[in-house]
Amino acid sequence: MKSAGLIEGGSYRPKDCQSRNKVAIILPFRNRSQHLTVFLHYMHPFLQRQQLDYTIFVVEQTDGLPFNRGMLLNVGFVEAHRSDTFQCFIFHDVDILPEDDRNVYSCPEVGRPRHMSFVIDIHDYKPVSLMFLFGGGVIAISAVDFVLANGYSNAFSGLGLEDDDFYRRIRRLNMSVARPNIPAEHLRYRTLYHDPSVDVNPNRQQLFDDGYLRFESDGLINLKYRPSDIELKPLYTHVVVDLTEDNLNLLISRPLN
Ligand code: UDP
Ligand code: MN
Repeated sequence: MKSAGLIEGGSYRPKDCQSRNKVAIILPFRNRSQHLTVFLHYMHPFLQRQQLDYTIFVVEQTDGLPFNRGMLLNVGFVEAHRSDTFQCFIFHDVDILPEDDRNVYSCPEVGRPRHMSFVIDIHDYKPVSLMFLFGGGVIAISAVDFVLANGYSNAFSGLGLEDDDFYRRIRRLNMSVARPNIPAEHLRYRTLYHDPSVDVNPNRQQLFDDGYLRFESDGLINLKYRPSDIELKPLYTHVVVDLTEDNLNLLISRPLN
């Protein structure tokens, strides 16, 4: 991958042309190293064939608390934002892979977040209903829109409905969510197998129902986490986050510049 031009930290820039945008690919991660290996070895060549200027960030929660996907994505956004200028972000689950090179990972327009993973093998490649617009998977959003939406809620400790809450944040701004305007067979995704997640949030419905009360107070605006080591690995930038009680007293607010 190095000989293909990959730079430490999992960054790439095409040699023979200038990409229109820089894309940060953000993966929420814990304890799925087999998936991560497959993802990285598959996605770097995929993204490079599309001549994108990109960096892959793996945001890993290292404590034993329930997995907080939304908060990890917020942390990934802030840390990426600190390290470089990215016009857009692709939030990408580690267990889902695009099958077709015509599914382009470029930046969506400002005001038009893009839902990408809705034609998936586990649903027999039948396009998933618009009801589940942000049902996890892969979304692309401009940096401007993510800040306007106040990012994800940090309150969803454990999986479930954090992405639907985020969808509401988008809708509240009267932005419409786009799906790529290309044939469905170009948009196919394959998922990697894992046991059903035990980390489901028992309070998710309540949090979702009264989520609108927190749209402005909970998100990027109140994001606090302990500044962690950021390591430039050969294939990705590794952001480590620990959300345990001990750390809560040490939490330092890291607002956007
Ligand atoms: N994830 C992880 N470790 C976990 C739980 C979740 O890395 O223990 C990340 C991973 O990127 C995964 C995503 O969060 O693809 C969504 O979780 P999961 O796949 O369990 O949810 P599903 O959509 O399959 O219900
Ligand atoms: Mn999964």
